[in-house]
Amino acid sequence: MSSLIVSKFGGFSLANAERVRTTADIIKSDPSRRYVVISAPGSRSGDNTRITDLLYICHARYSNKEDFMEILKLIEERYRAIIDGLGMDFNLEPEIADIKKSLFFGKNNEHIVSRGEYIMAKIMSAYMGWEFVDASRMIFFNRDGTLNEERTFAAVSDTLKGKERAVIPGFYGTIPGGDIKTFARGGGDTTGAIIARAVKADLYEKWAEATEVFSADPAIVKDPEIVRNITYAELRELTYMGIKIVYEDVTLLLKDTGIPIRVHNIHHPDDIGTLITDELPEGIKRDVAACIAGRRNYKVIRIEKFGLNKTYGVGEKVWGIFARHGISCEHYISGIYNFAIVVKSPMFDLKRAEIVREIQNAINPESVTVERDLSLIAIIGKGMGTVKGMFARVFDAIAARNIKVRMINQGADDLNIILGVYDEDFDETVRALYDAMIMK
Ligand code: ASP
Repeated sequence: MSSLIVSKFGGFSLANAERVRTTADIIKSDPSRRYVVISAPGSRSGDNTRITDLLYICHARYSNKEDFMEILKLIEERYRAIIDGLGMDFNLEPEIADIKKSLFFGKNNEHIVSRGEYIMAKIMSAYMGWEFVDASRMIFFNRDGTLNEERTFAAVSDTLKGKERAVIPGFYGTIPGGDIKTFARGGGDTTGAIIARAVKADLYEKWAEATEVFSADPAIVKDPEIVRNITYAELRELTYMGIKIVYEDVTLLLKDTGIPIRVHNIHHPDDIGTLITDELPEGIKRDVAACIAGRRNYKVIRIEKFGLNKTYGVGEKVWGIFARHGISCEHYISGIYNFAIVVKSPMFDLKRAEIVREIQNAINPESVTVERDLSLIAIIGKGMGTVKGMFARVFDAIAARNIKVRMINQGADDLNIILGVYDEDFDETVRALYDAMIMK
């Protein structure tokens, strides 16, 4: 049986006729690409207007009784340029008239905005000669706005059964009562993952503009290696460190299905991109780590209390204080008579004195100290903690560059080792760890 790929193309890939042509060539270059989810046209080089943004503005202007026609004209011109550039005979007028009618009939802004993907998917299906299947027929939300998974997966699988190929607009579905609802911005990716899961695809592909999973930030390390294979769990750690390759929703939808994700850069169609899987594929061996990634601006609250090991409920009381102030404790490090809580929320700076006082009253500690301007830098790689000599490698590299380490945390799941250093040492630490743990 031939394999089945669900591919999702972001707004950049559809921003003008030339990019649409490239996208169609990519789709047709592999017959396994059978279901294609697409976004509304994104920004072109030289301008910064995305169709989705224009549609939001259009609806806002209409609601405020301002002139919306000039925006609608801009939208029409963007599609017209694509249609003409592709030499197509596509009847755009009814689609634009329909947006106007929907505004007059008071349709919600999510309906208006969804037309960005709807019209583009129709153009794409006409250009490729593939069937158009509307997402509103297959993607259903619950009343509270969450995805109705059961109904959606059944509807997608029923609707697409027997269809050899289809173009599907991303980003929206239907709420009870029949109105359109959109996912969060960038949510075309969620549609792609839903389709992939429902049809039990062999692969979900995401094509976008900058998808490289670098082993370190290229702004800090010169020409870092590209990670070609990464696990879902490692990707989650990277996401925490601010590197967003796919949406969290996508990982949640696909991680237990065994469906791998491949991210591709539209500028390099022949490059294999990066494959995200539950476990590393057989035969893929990594020296030590996959990536070095970090974030700045953490605060560490160190609490010293003698007899801590024999006292009950201290952690609960302290955590409760942070929770009541709406501050998340992002990391926890424990010693014998002391422990430290790491927070990032800017709210802590505002409530610092109050929180310290509350901790003092609650557990009567020897001391509570706060250190600011710390960066957390993670060495990410599954199974890394069990590699012999790994800590020696890390600390030799750090010592050689004279960097002061303020904190070490090895995750319980063996996925990363996190070092806390001063913000001013961020770049140097990343370079030291890259040289020691990734570059061969
Ligand atoms: N068009 C939508 C946005 O700009 C959704 C997407 O592109 O995935 O957010």
